[in-house]
Amino acid sequence: MASPRQVCCICGSPRLEEMFASRGIGFTLAQRPNDLTLTSAALCLECSHVQTPPLEDIASYYDTGYSFQLSNAEEDDIYSVQPDGACLFRSQHQADSVERLHELTDGLKILDYGCGKARTLSLLVGKHPGIVPYTFDVSDIYCTLWDRFVPKANQAPYSLPDGWQGGMDLVLSFFALEHSADPCGFVRQIAEVVRPGGKVHVVIPNMYRNISDLVVIDHAQHFSGASLRRLFEGAGYTDVVIDDTTHRAAFIVIATRPETMTEGIFRSEENLEPILKGARDVAHTWSDIAARIADFEEDHPDGPAVIYGSGVYGMFVALTLHDRSRIKAFLDANPYRQGRDLLGVPILPPDAVPQDAGIVYVGLNPKDARSIIEGVAALHRRPREFFFL
Ligand SMILES: [Zn+2]
Repeated sequence: MASPRQVCCICGSPRLEEMFASRGIGFTLAQRPNDLTLTSAALCLECSHVQTPPLEDIASYYDTGYSFQLSNAEEDDIYSVQPDGACLFRSQHQADSVERLHELTDGLKILDYGCGKARTLSLLVGKHPGIVPYTFDVSDIYCTLWDRFVPKANQAPYSLPDGWQGGMDLVLSFFALEHSADPCGFVRQIAEVVRPGGKVHVVIPNMYRNISDLVVIDHAQHFSGASLRRLFEGAGYTDVVIDDTTHRAAFIVIATRPETMTEGIFRSEENLEPILKGARDVAHTWSDIAARIADFEEDHPDGPAVIYGSGVYGMFVALTLHDRSRIKAFLDANPYRQGRDLLGVPILPPDAVPQDAGIVYVGLNPKDARSIIEGVAALHRRPREFFFL
């Protein structure tokens, strides 16, 4: 584990409270199942930001170790499942949100910053062929996917070309800022490529709605609405809007780049106590979860079991179990995951739950888990014992 920081990377305060140390989960886990490490978090009492020591050798991790969902151009996470069973995928929801919140006129120059496959931007281009797409990421492994819809001159692997300075009308960034070891540098850099009067649209996990954010080892930053406002206003953006409702379990920050970016300190008037308490609650929940999994396993020692969900929560359950050999399958509604295996265990559609599996560990966001499980008819065709995180 990297050594903890001495000061908050958003406000510079040394008033940090160590609140958490646990085993964390990496996105590369499917490829490298032993890639587990301790993770920790410190809460800033001055601005409510939570930070985790950044991964060592962060550049090579994202260049060659990350390869998020690269095996299939369309592969995506589920955002929600409709009553008829149809999946709404995350990129589609992100594209819908951008459409709702911005006017996508012909000729509009849009950069997707830290874009990975740039799936959201490709959906936007498909629907609005008049917009001009640009892509940037800290790797060149996505270029063949970008080639499908982004002119070569508009692609930037590794670094932003000088010629892009002040040229973009809109910069999008989905789930990138939380990986950065230097969030102030990140928001300054995106400001440099936006034209005066142009906008940024930055989406970041909200750990208060989705606690898995705290144990994902490559998330170095865990923002609150207050620490996000401080970051963007402190960097000199104006008209900063923090939207915590459009994207469930994420914050969307929309901000304008003024003619002159004047950096300064913009102290929140907000009472931070409820946010600080919320952060401590998230940390406490994780400290408690491993113990609860162990207790449940001890109380239910016999017979085959399954884990519902093959994402971060499902992996956390699998890696915490004392005897993983009883797990006959992961169940997952995401068609892109079905048919693969994880930790040597097959991922099956929920309908294919083995009939003899009497125990179901529910590896889903605790906020949504009970209502999702209620709706999975296949699980209720025989009596089963459920474990909820
Ligand atoms: Zn702070």
